[in-house]
Amino acid sequence: RPVNIDLVVAGSGFFGLTVAERCAADLGLRVLVLDRRGHIGGNAYSEDEPETGIEVHRYGAHLFHTSNKRVWEYANRFTSFTGYRHRVYSTFKGRVYSMPINLGTICEYFGRSFTPDEARALIAGQAAEVAAPSNLEEKAVSLIGRPLYEAFIRGYTAKQWQTDPRDLPAEIITRLPVRYTFDNRYFNDVYEGLPVDGYTAWLERMADHPRIEVRLDTDFLDMRDDVVGNVPVVYTGALDRYFGYAEGDLGWRTLDFEMEVKPTGDFQGTPVMNYADEDVPYTRIHEFRHFHPERDRYLADKTVIMREYSRFAARGDEPYYPINTAADRARLLAYRELARAEGGVLFGGRLGTYKYLDMHMAIASALSMVDNQLRPHFAEGARLINGGEDE
Ligand code: FAD
Ligand code: UDP
Repeated sequence: RPVNIDLVVAGSGFFGLTVAERCAADLGLRVLVLDRRGHIGGNAYSEDEPETGIEVHRYGAHLFHTSNKRVWEYANRFTSFTGYRHRVYSTFKGRVYSMPINLGTICEYFGRSFTPDEARALIAGQAAEVAAPSNLEEKAVSLIGRPLYEAFIRGYTAKQWQTDPRDLPAEIITRLPVRYTFDNRYFNDVYEGLPVDGYTAWLERMADHPRIEVRLDTDFLDMRDDVVGNVPVVYTGALDRYFGYAEGDLGWRTLDFEMEVKPTGDFQGTPVMNYADEDVPYTRIHEFRHFHPERDRYLADKTVIMREYSRFAARGDEPYYPINTAADRARLLAYRELARAEGGVLFGGRLGTYKYLDMHMAIASALSMVDNQLRPHFAEGARLINGGEDE
């Protein structure tokens, strides 16, 4: 049983660190943060590639964007942000187009100029075949018409999900905006940027508090019998693993990253190039130097690229994207029942709730957990309750 500890946080990703930082700095609690990995920060962790000094996001490229003012102000306590604006291109049959689909993509693809009204009319005609979209394919066709769907979405989605797009939820595709202007920014959010000193410096500053103790290479599940029931816990690891997979495995996609140092100062001229063709095995290539054009310390004659491959996750793999089939949703409901009955443990974050959360969403959700659960618990003994808010 941990002594002199008021709260145990399992997992040091953005969710866990936000809870820990607020509880230590604002509520005056002594917080023990554990992580299974040998570093803090969860999937947002980054490190300098040793040969080139270029900051590499080890678990896939992370772009910070939010329209939530509270989250933006909170993040700015720990880091300032560059003026980076994310833009993505896609290669299809040997030609390059701008993504997400915008007026530029439409003009390039159909090989002529369109006014916004002409482009709307063209796509409306091509999209008319779908009346009430109920899956990813129908939703995409209803938004951009079949020709653009078949070029830019079908093959990429097949590689990303290895699932028939008619069996995938429509929401996945609504993450991508469609624009009838030449605006080719990837995100619509009010605030955007990359942490000036890198993600790891930001994450370390969140953990740097005299009342926070961090223990790495430590799996919470190995000590839970000593903790649960004695000290309140915020658990941000995988929900199914916590319960010994009693209700079955929740389905995840994982990614394999293939990193390579190239003997050139510029491999692709842009941070992210998507590959829409189904016969190219990777979904995209990241070139990390382009995330920080302001850093003149990067070498002029070497660059780091990372090819990204997607596949189903087995138990030992890193779980990245919840698949969310109907069977997954049924299992999730069963796990939520178990979570409700698990006294003294709050489940949070991407793995703990089986939800795709961007960083700003993980931070926002952690701030709400502190406001709605932890503050009333520590101030007036309110019982900690899982769920209810989002079902
Ligand atoms: P995580 O970061 O996954 O942290 C969970 C931590 O818990 C991990 O460190 C893990 O080791 C630890 N843990 C698990 N089980 C245990 C246990 N039993 N005991 C101890 N520790 C445990 N968001 C964006 O905003 N923009 C992006 O561009 C973006 N790109 C992404 C790309 C990829 C490939 C992925 C996977 C995610 C991306 N995200 C992005 C999402 C972002 O990574 C998440 O929002 C963020 O990681 C959520 O934080 P979290 O704390 O919930 O989970
Ligand atoms: N997508 C696509 N082609 C692209 C980019 C995205 O078909 O060039 C689809 C794909 O199904 C993907 C979804 O849109 O899963 C969401 O894309 P996003 O870039 O948000 O995916 P992430 O960055 O989370 O991998």
